[in-house]
Amino acid sequence: MNRQRFIPAGVVSKRKRTTTKMKLELDLNIIKQKSISKEKENFKFRAFLKQCDDKKVDKIVHAIYKRVVKEIDCTQCGNCCKHMNPSLTMKEIRVLSKIDNTTTKDFKENHTEIDSFENTHFLKQKPCKYLNDKICTIYEFRPNDCKSFPHIHKSSFNSRTLSMIEYYGICPIVFNVMEQLKSEFRFRSLI
Ligand code: SF4
Ligand code: SF4
Repeated sequence: MNRQRFIPAGVVSKRKRTTTKMKLELDLNIIKQKSISKEKENFKFRAFLKQCDDKKVDKIVHAIYKRVVKEIDCTQCGNCCKHMNPSLTMKEIRVLSKIDNTTTKDFKENHTEIDSFENTHFLKQKPCKYLNDKICTIYEFRPNDCKSFPHIHKSSFNSRTLSMIEYYGICPIVFNVMEQLKSEFRFRSLI
């Protein structure tokens, strides 16, 4: 997510409708509903992708992602900040503790939860405690996990498909990348 300032509700295309080449779904309510109605399809698609060459999948996903992300303005969405718990490094915890004018110990106790299996801290409030009227109040200091969400630009898409199914109902970028990926593989004609 890359946004300094959020403005009210809904996501809009950056391009004017007359020049938009792709038909994107941007309505968060429709996206949420489709994540429920298409849950089985998404898990079948995940199983299908697992049989494909990982590098080929990455190449196609990254090409689609570049096209989709150009069309979506995160400054008019902010939905991930309402639904996700970003992970925090110890350095980030120290930075946020300073911003909050508290100790790292108190910050950890009051504002994080820990995944003891991975020994990782996560911000625990939803919506995020730093989200104020759709503005990230600590934008310059936001955690890396926030900066790189929804992580589609990274390699090994196939190793993150469970997360993608989770994000599919939250993030218009993920939703549209997944739908275009299904089309690219002509997946629906296979089921
Ligand atoms: S720290 Fe900022 S970017 Fe990250 S979840 Fe909170 S409001 Fe969103
Ligand atoms: S949910 Fe997706 S589209 Fe919305 S702000 Fe976050 S990264 Fe951008």
